[in-house]
Amino acid sequence: MNLILMGPPGAGKGTQARRIAERYAIPQLSTGDMLRAAVKAGSPVGLQAKAAMESGALVTDDIVVGIIADRLKEADCAKGFILDGFPRTVPQAAALDKVLAGMSIAIDHVVDMEVDSEALVARITGRSTCSKCGEGYHAVSKKPSVAGVCDKCGGELTQRADDNEATVRNRLKVYNEQTAPLIDYYKKSGNFKAVDGMAEMNQVFDSICAVLG
Ligand code: ADP
Ligand code: ZN
Repeated sequence: MNLILMGPPGAGKGTQARRIAERYAIPQLSTGDMLRAAVKAGSPVGLQAKAAMESGALVTDDIVVGIIADRLKEADCAKGFILDGFPRTVPQAAALDKVLAGMSIAIDHVVDMEVDSEALVARITGRSTCSKCGEGYHAVSKKPSVAGVCDKCGGELTQRADDNEATVRNRLKVYNEQTAPLIDYYKKSGNFKAVDGMAEMNQVFDSICAVLG
């Protein structure tokens, strides 16, 4: 099963992608996670991506297409994959179509998580993640029992550098201008489905699974 998970920043793509990956035993390919790892490692890609990410702009299509094309060739993607945060522009989607055609595979489902734009800023600015196990938390809706400490593994909770209000507003603007047009792009492909991303997390997961079958 080859899946694209779409939605604005803060829609909960990462959380749902992790659960889908577990349920269907396929890898989650998050360009955001890959770019953050590259920035942390100080690799050439990381050095090029850093400034764009900090301002909430997009990293260039060449970089992200290159990362994903390489990743799709790895053995664990043969059984399927979840694209999380990619494609994010129409040229990226066109490049993906080419890469997949070259590998003789296709996308089976495009799932779009719909969330009210007013909810997104509050969701994003309150969130934190365990640096050890990746579990997500939120200052209002999912507080850890001890501040700054993961309930699951005791790891330290960290906030993303780009989860501040100014950057978030720019990320939403960029989403509306450059990523939202992909909804029409994929509607034409016939395997597009929208789910209500405002529902409770388990319910969102159930509606995604219902689409995937
Ligand atoms: P979110 O969806 O919450 O904004 P991500 O972790 O998916 O977060 O992405 C974080 C940042 O990484 C983006 O704001 C952007 O700068 C960069 N990025 C991630 N994926 C892409 C992509 N496909 N194209 C361009 N830039 C990307
Ligand atoms: Zn943890």
